[in-house]
Amino acid sequence: MFEDFDPDVLEQVKQNVAFTKLEELKAWARTRSFWPMTFGLACCAIEMMATGAARYDLDRFGVIFRATPRHSDVMIVAGTVTKKMAPVLRRLYDQMPEPRWVIAMGSCAICGGPYYKGYSVLNGVDKIVPVDVYVPGCPPTPPALLDGIEKLRVKIRAEAKGKKVKVNGPK
Ligand code: SF4
Repeated sequence: MFEDFDPDVLEQVKQNVAFTKLEELKAWARTRSFWPMTFGLACCAIEMMATGAARYDLDRFGVIFRATPRHSDVMIVAGTVTKKMAPVLRRLYDQMPEPRWVIAMGSCAICGGPYYKGYSVLNGVDKIVPVDVYVPGCPPTPPALLDGIEKLRVKIRAEAKGKKVKVNGPK
């Protein structure tokens, strides 16, 4: 079919033209420019801030923290979610435009952590918002959060290809 084409042109096409689907292109762009909403609730937030600071430098991955849900597409829940804070968290989640994702950072956000028997602590943020990635630890280190962000990238790109991705969370 292509025998009539100039071989140089064909070579240029091979080297410079990529074919993909629009959904996959959008997923690629989204995963290269996450804008997480700051949602530090307790000690885990210190590690989240450290991940954004000079040593780990989240900016170099296109991850820029925003102070408003209207500009955010990822909520990193870092810390203890109290029952009093839960409705506020849900409201802020609802204010984020779609598509949006949630990372539960640390034992407290995943299942209540050391306070899971406490009267005032929610035993997992997934009781009020859907969680896409769980980052275990008390607290998780900055490399663990970077790994969680990478897992979210992989999940979003796989879903854009129509694949189901299993989320490993608490039993
Ligand atoms: Fe603090 Fe540990 Fe809870 Fe993180 S998981 S907020 S470090 S008690």
